[in-house]
Amino acid sequence: MNCPKCKSYDVRPSRRKGIIEHVLSAAGVWPFRCQRCYKRYRKVTLGRPIHHKTHGGEADPGIALDPTDEIASR
Ligand SMILES: [Zn+2]
Repeated sequence: MNCPKCKSYDVRPSRRKGIIEHVLSAAGVWPFRCQRCYKRYRKVTLGRPIHHKTHGGEADPGIALDPTDEIASR
């Protein structure tokens, strides 16, 4: 995965803005931003994009699964 504009590999997951990008993320399309030219673009990604670099103490809760989906009361 790299930037379509400057071909840099220094791209990071971007914050989703608006209902449209939330809907797109549910379909596997996540926004990214290039750290070199700051171009913002969307890309199909399997699962949630993960920051590989941790800055110490920055905990990412990830996807909170809803237990009521799996455990149905009989
Ligand atoms: Zn770029």
